[in-house]
Amino acid sequence: MKTIAIVGRPNVGKSALFNRLAGRRISIVHDMPGVTRDRISAICKKADIPFEVIDTGGIGGGGVEDGFEGMIEQEAEIAMAAADGILFVVDGQDGVTPVDEALAALLRRTSRPIMLVVNKIDTDGHSLDAVEFTRLGFTDVVATSAEHGRGIGDLLKVIRPILQSRAAEKHAPDDEGTGSGEREYPLKLALVGRPNVGKSSLVNAILEDERTMVSEVSGTTRDAVDLPYERKGKKFMLIDTAGIRRRLRRLEPVEAFSIMRSQKAIRRSDICLLVIDAAEGVQSQDRKIAQTIQDEEKACVVVVNKFDLYHPELPFKKRWEKLSDEVRRGLFFLDYAPLVATSAQDRTYLKKLFAAVNRIHEGSPKNIGTGELNRLLQRAIYKNPPPLKTGRRFNLLYSVWKNPERPCSIPPLHFLLFCNRAHILPTSYKRYLEHQLRESLKLEGLPVTFEVRGRKPMRRSS
Ligand code: GDP
Repeated sequence: MKTIAIVGRPNVGKSALFNRLAGRRISIVHDMPGVTRDRISAICKKADIPFEVIDTGGIGGGGVEDGFEGMIEQEAEIAMAAADGILFVVDGQDGVTPVDEALAALLRRTSRPIMLVVNKIDTDGHSLDAVEFTRLGFTDVVATSAEHGRGIGDLLKVIRPILQSRAAEKHAPDDEGTGSGEREYPLKLALVGRPNVGKSSLVNAILEDERTMVSEVSGTTRDAVDLPYERKGKKFMLIDTAGIRRRLRRLEPVEAFSIMRSQKAIRRSDICLLVIDAAEGVQSQDRKIAQTIQDEEKACVVVVNKFDLYHPELPFKKRWEKLSDEVRRGLFFLDYAPLVATSAQDRTYLKKLFAAVNRIHEGSPKNIGTGELNRLLQRAIYKNPPPLKTGRRFNLLYSVWKNPERPCSIPPLHFLLFCNRAHILPTSYKRYLEHQLRESLKLEGLPVTFEVRGRKPMRRSS
């Protein structure tokens, strides 16, 4: 579902407009005890495609100390981060004010579509001074009276193309698509790891496992070799970082491990398969690559290869327990990533590897409503409030899922937390919120990132 945000300085009629769009079907988001804010987000069903509307002005909670400018700035930021389209509301009776101009300048930074809503045009007698408002630099201009319900139909018409557009969607149409001849996106799996852990052998084992004839995809050969692969009717692209070495062997006799090369492959992937050598255990270089995967906010499966060499004398269950215990400890910060053991040599357990990949893909949320997200976090905060720090308590005002720039199969779970003061949120508490979110949304293999944004303290007016 698309998200449309309402922004504007106070008293231009944002909440009246919000109520108009929300209609009777208003769904109150913040119904938690102790939370006074309500009516921030609702589902609008007045257009033929429903959308979520958020009133950034309803977020409030700032208090005098935070200052008025900081508040408006933050509201604009929320809208730009989360919304597929923005309704920028101004007062048609007041004309353009300096605050409107400042807000317009902020909003012009985003590539998201912005519609200028000139509100309080209550009667036909109120003529719209078009020239004055076009000065703000937006081409879509609609005159409304939220109070009297005028111009709402026109507004919905202007919103319509955004609701239909695909480009701004949070995910690419993938295998569960409509089947109407849409392009199918293969799931991109990057095999990364130190030299000699068995990446090449794994690629070969995978390809032979399903006996696919492959030809490399040309053009993407600087950091890796791309190999299309189909398994049980599902399309994948294996990004083989070891393949480049095979090709360059004659030119590059000395293996120069390049973290840069795997970084590019990681960046291009949907899911990283971090290959570890079971016989050698987790090394510092493995941890570096793992860290890169996490920094790039990529989903991950830890593949412990050469399992055949790992304590073959022990019974299977013991071997697995011992190994997973060791690897988990070595890669403690990747605790959300599923762990599988393989033997490329014996071609065993590849099924488990793809089961993990498919679980991550299918479990990756494509859409989390702003309402749902805030409800989840507020509930977590209510259950276990953050500690006081120098007499102040962290106060979460609002949270949004940052829309990815491009459509992707596994959208990164990157959330913006707007709060009173960014620096008083301890890391341990961020981790608590992450765990709560993981539990509620049943996330596996996916990193969660919280970007905390505080309000700027009031600038002293001179
Ligand atoms: P890469 O540098 O990560 O691509 O590693 P290679 O695929 O070239 O493998 C390095 C060495 O490990 C080769 O001698 C492989 O035969 C061997 N190897 C790879 N996978 C396994 C495995 O599962 N078990 C055993 N015993 N040896 C393996």
